[in-house]
Amino acid sequence: MNISPIPEPEKRSASKIPMVGASFDILYRMDVAVWVYDIDNAQIVHANPAACKIWGAEVESELQSRDLREDMSSTVGKRLRQYQSDFLASDSTFTELWTLYPNGSPTSVMVIYRGYELLDGRMGMICEVVGESEDTPENLRSAEALLHTDVMIMLFGVSGPALYLNPAARNSLRAPISGLDDIFVDPQDLSRGLGEIERVGEHRTVTKFHTVNGVRWFDVSIKSCSDAVTGQPALLLTSIDVSDLKEARDTARHLADRDQLTNLHNRSYLQNHLAWLEDCGTAAGLTLIIFDIDKFKTINDRHGHDAGDTVLRQIATRARAVLPPQNLLARFGGDEFVVVVSERIGEAELANQIEKMRTAIAKPIQHEQTRLNVSVSIGVSQFNDDYSRAAQVMREADIALYASKQAGRDRVTYFNAEMGDAVAARDLLEVELNSAVEREEFVLHYQPRLDVTSGKIVGAEGLVRWNHPRDGVLLPGAFISVCEETGLIDDLGRLVLELGVTQAIKWNKEGRGLNISLNVSPRQFSDPTFLSTLSELAKRAGFPKGRVELEITESVLIGDHQLIADKLRAITAMGYQIAIDDFGTGYSNLSYISRFPLTCLKIDRSFIDQLPEAGPIVQLILTLGKQIGATVVSEGVETQDQLDWLTDHACEEVQGFLITKALPTDKFEAFIGGFSLPKKPAVSC
Ligand code: C2E
Ligand code: MG
Ligand code: MG
Repeated sequence: MNISPIPEPEKRSASKIPMVGASFDILYRMDVAVWVYDIDNAQIVHANPAACKIWGAEVESELQSRDLREDMSSTVGKRLRQYQSDFLASDSTFTELWTLYPNGSPTSVMVIYRGYELLDGRMGMICEVVGESEDTPENLRSAEALLHTDVMIMLFGVSGPALYLNPAARNSLRAPISGLDDIFVDPQDLSRGLGEIERVGEHRTVTKFHTVNGVRWFDVSIKSCSDAVTGQPALLLTSIDVSDLKEARDTARHLADRDQLTNLHNRSYLQNHLAWLEDCGTAAGLTLIIFDIDKFKTINDRHGHDAGDTVLRQIATRARAVLPPQNLLARFGGDEFVVVVSERIGEAELANQIEKMRTAIAKPIQHEQTRLNVSVSIGVSQFNDDYSRAAQVMREADIALYASKQAGRDRVTYFNAEMGDAVAARDLLEVELNSAVEREEFVLHYQPRLDVTSGKIVGAEGLVRWNHPRDGVLLPGAFISVCEETGLIDDLGRLVLELGVTQAIKWNKEGRGLNISLNVSPRQFSDPTFLSTLSELAKRAGFPKGRVELEITESVLIGDHQLIADKLRAITAMGYQIAIDDFGTGYSNLSYISRFPLTCLKIDRSFIDQLPEAGPIVQLILTLGKQIGATVVSEGVETQDQLDWLTDHACEEVQGFLITKALPTDKFEAFIGGFSLPKKPAVSC
């Protein structure tokens, strides 16, 4: 917008003209157009002939009878109200280019407005025309635009005085305004802006202004120019209120940068922060601490997700409270937190900070009626002076954290190079596992289940083995946990089910009368495709209904009992049986056990190992099995004494090295062909 041809309004010291009787007569004789305006009623009260001419009125009475509201926009009405209150507050005078619409056609005149007390005591104004504008369409339109825009446009002398404020600025900004520092809330923003103008002639920023509605945010552009009247250097400010936009943007940024549960910074913020440290080259010597909550899954499983949330929030609050404020604390995801120690500190001070944090976290956490004792495992790594790859340091701290967990949790581990080698081996394992699933390098070995009463092998548990191209046959302990962590367990689990069901169909066709048990991991159980996989397999020709058993662990039964029971019923309806594996080691709510369609309880090896001391527990499980109509199988039977004890106590089935370890299919088939066990009469129960 070109405003240079428009004379700027001026604030002069007010001089109230005594407008009574003869004084006004003088004005009637002058060529200068003067009128008195009643702001409240939008009417001209007095007008001299020169004014009548400008307004296009034959006589004063005709002008007095006009209701000026008809041609007045609401902005103009508001502005006149503003003038009225300015007049009441001080002896203000305004000079402004004004467009009048006498009989509908525009005329632009430069007018001085002064407050004028009407006869009844209300505040009106006296208007004096000091010049007519060149009524070019360009001038008229630019003047109108300037007057009506919501954009605040201001002109200041470089040394400070306000030379012109358009109506939007006058209406919005907090008076009085004698200089820029009356407007800017933050003096630093102002001096930064002025500095930049000195250097490059212009400045753009978002800053806070004092307004009649309090402090608000404005997008401000300042340019150096010269005052069209004096030719002196001046500053032109254009500002628009962006408070709503800024608030929305700040909320969006907060949402994007913060973790909603703990209000700590989140993973993406942390990553940006680390990238920034790297870019600035200021990361060298800094430390990363990663910690996660020990057995957090158990807290969620036993006490519910609300308890888990309380723990996360409490830990966040406590850690934040003891860490120095300049250290960044972020929730990296799940139960994992990261601290960026943002300055180089010595080993002792670092250890001290970590210890403080551990102590704060270790205090019991109250959730409803429950007191929870929580500990954390911690891994620490430092940015090296030679390299500063944040991703590398994160990984090292993660490796150290893993080492803390491996060493029994609730401890701090500082990364060292040897740990890196172990991790490299795990990485290799992950890569190899991926291709192993694709290449189907997995097979099932079968461990027989012996019916104690008949002395016959009645079934087998399919246990997965990895035929590793380099390392030979690997047991599940070497790879199942990595499969669970990486999600590969879904593919592996499907493959196991496929292998097991195929074998069950074959044995059934051969009339062997063998049941097959297959292990299902908790993650696999909650996989949305699990039911459809089972259903597909159950529809295969020759699928032996009632002969394929799925072993789940107690942790699967924790949660929404109704949902779990429904799922289990859907599975049994397809013709599968359900066993609880490693029974006695989890947290099953015994009162719910009877509501699930369970056909078998497998007593965990650890109890069998401790017979006869663990006898009461084993007996309890045997009784429970009877009550709910499930077969009880003892796992890990290694000695004749254990077998004898179990036989004496009417355990129905056993499985263990005493009979044989798991065997490849051909060996298993050969084994059962020639199997016989000296039978000891069972004690009747
Ligand atoms: P599990 O299901 O409880 O299987 C029994 C484990 O105990 C097997 O170990 C078996 O070889 C071992 N075992 C059997 N009898 C004895 C004994 O008398 N003494 C001793 N010391 N051990 C005995 P394995 O094959 O190494 O499997 C370990 C675990 O890996 C299994 O425990 C099961 O939880 C898991 N697993 C095995 N196959 C699969 C599978 O296909 N899918 C899933 N998700 N997990 C599997
Ligand atoms: Mg099992
Ligand atoms: Mg087991």
